[in-house]
Amino acid sequence: MIFKTDKADFESYLSDAANVKGDCEGIYFPENENEIVELIKKANKENLNITISAGRTGLNGGCVPQNGILISTEKLNKVIEISTENKFVVVEPGVVLSDLQKEVEKVNLFYPPDPTETNCFIGGTVVNNSSGARTFKYGPTRNFVEEISVILPNGEKVEIKRNENYIQNYLGKISFENRDDLRFVIPNYKMPNVKHAAGYYCKENMDLIDLFIGSEGTLGVITKIKLKLIELPKNILSMIIFFNSESDLFNFVNETRNLSVDKTNIIDLREIEFFDHNTLKILKSDYPNIPDNTNGAVWIEQEFEQKDEENLLLEIDEQIQKFNGDAENIWFALNEKEREKLKEFRHKIALKVNDIISERGLLKVGTDNAVPNEKFSEFYEFTKNLIMEHNLDYVVYGHIGNSHLHFNMLPKDRDELTLCRKLYGEICRKSVELGGTISAEHGIGKLKTKYLVEMFGEENILQMAKLKKNFDPNMILNVGNMFEKKYLQMV
Ligand SMILES: Cc1cc2nc3c(=O)[nH]c(=O)nc-3n(C[C@H](O)[C@H](O)[C@H](O)COP(=O)(O)OP(=O)(O)OC[C@H]3O[C@@H](n4cnc5c(N)ncnc54)[C@H](O)[C@@H]3O)c2cc1C
Repeated sequence: MIFKTDKADFESYLSDAANVKGDCEGIYFPENENEIVELIKKANKENLNITISAGRTGLNGGCVPQNGILISTEKLNKVIEISTENKFVVVEPGVVLSDLQKEVEKVNLFYPPDPTETNCFIGGTVVNNSSGARTFKYGPTRNFVEEISVILPNGEKVEIKRNENYIQNYLGKISFENRDDLRFVIPNYKMPNVKHAAGYYCKENMDLIDLFIGSEGTLGVITKIKLKLIELPKNILSMIIFFNSESDLFNFVNETRNLSVDKTNIIDLREIEFFDHNTLKILKSDYPNIPDNTNGAVWIEQEFEQKDEENLLLEIDEQIQKFNGDAENIWFALNEKEREKLKEFRHKIALKVNDIISERGLLKVGTDNAVPNEKFSEFYEFTKNLIMEHNLDYVVYGHIGNSHLHFNMLPKDRDELTLCRKLYGEICRKSVELGGTISAEHGIGKLKTKYLVEMFGEENILQMAKLKKNFDPNMILNVGNMFEKKYLQMV
């Protein structure tokens, strides 16, 4: 197994896509499960902290070590099996999402989760329960995970299959051949009824596999994953529609969302993405054909049967006209290549924001809140007004179909950064007050732990810490993710 201790050789592993920086003694690149077991046993014996590093596209510092050692999953990158008959794929955790998508598409299968940045690893997306544009129709990564192999923080391996082990009345149990059962209690808080990726997934009678999905690597290292696939859609309509009025745009979103949810209508969008006026202004230098007077845009996609094409186009056109969309300037994708260009347009803004902010040598402050659909307008107005009152640069874009936008505040100096962080706290409080979440998809990592305490309260954080300590009594694995170490020391 490769082990690097010279920092110059692994500097890039000490930060993530949000530019969170860390430090550690060295990095291991295991090539099989046994090597991970070895490392975990060593860590328990020597009291070493382990942080798991995957594609490092995370935005919360979760893969960034504070000390101890790093374990990269990048050499665990085999696609083990693809079944066209039973529509599944089995992979190691280090398989890159875009590689997996290409591989299964070759045999006419489709893996819907698509968290915008396709350089992430499958293991990273599972422990973060990642989402993306297509979550509007297909839900998050969780909906596609059928089985996982996990090395627990004590070095034992477990295989967890969906529908085989339920946590009844908040009491869970994992059985082993040669030792007593691992029994644990899960917290009994109520998760908000929105797209949500903050804290452990806990429900009264839930599948054990769901506890690990979204656990941010705090309960074990995932070493093998079986994912459900679906048939590759044959026809996809993809278009970007510009609007001169933001309220027209929001009404268009509400109506097409309702039509999509009510499955009797021909409109059944798989994604509805939003770009605000400021976002389009920033993108204009790369895309001069963005219309001048536009005040926002939506990107929609829908899968369809060939026989329905004409009716579908008519219905969508009707909605565009009804809500005064800019009919002269619609961007259509008629084939895969053009569809990729629209996807690139969506991806570009996330990269632009990261570039602007790293040029300034600062950190971006980006929200990841989702709220119930009926509270969206109130939350949007509150957040926009709050940021504008303080004259901060910002852009807003994202998953409006799920009432989940990323407000990205772009501080120009350290003072503004401090202000942005203060406003971020207010925005999180507002989302919780409206029945929403502090994180819909990026997770908590090391950056947002204090907001998780605000969302669920200290008592529940202590319940989470107790759960983790049951799995990880020596506190060696991904400590500091989701909640601070002090909570582990308190239970
Ligand atoms: C431009 C851009 C756009 C993005 N858009 C979206 C989006 O739309 N939706 C979305 O959900 N996310 C989005 N993200 C965030 C990011 O892509 C996801 O969080 C991704 O799932 C992280 O995967 P990774 O492989 O990069 O993991 P890393 O960042 O390396 O790690 C993430 C966490 O997972 C843990 N981990 C990784 N692998 C394992 C394992 N095998 N076992 C145990 N723990 C493990 C790490 O320790 C860390 O805590 C975006 C990021 C960027 C840069």
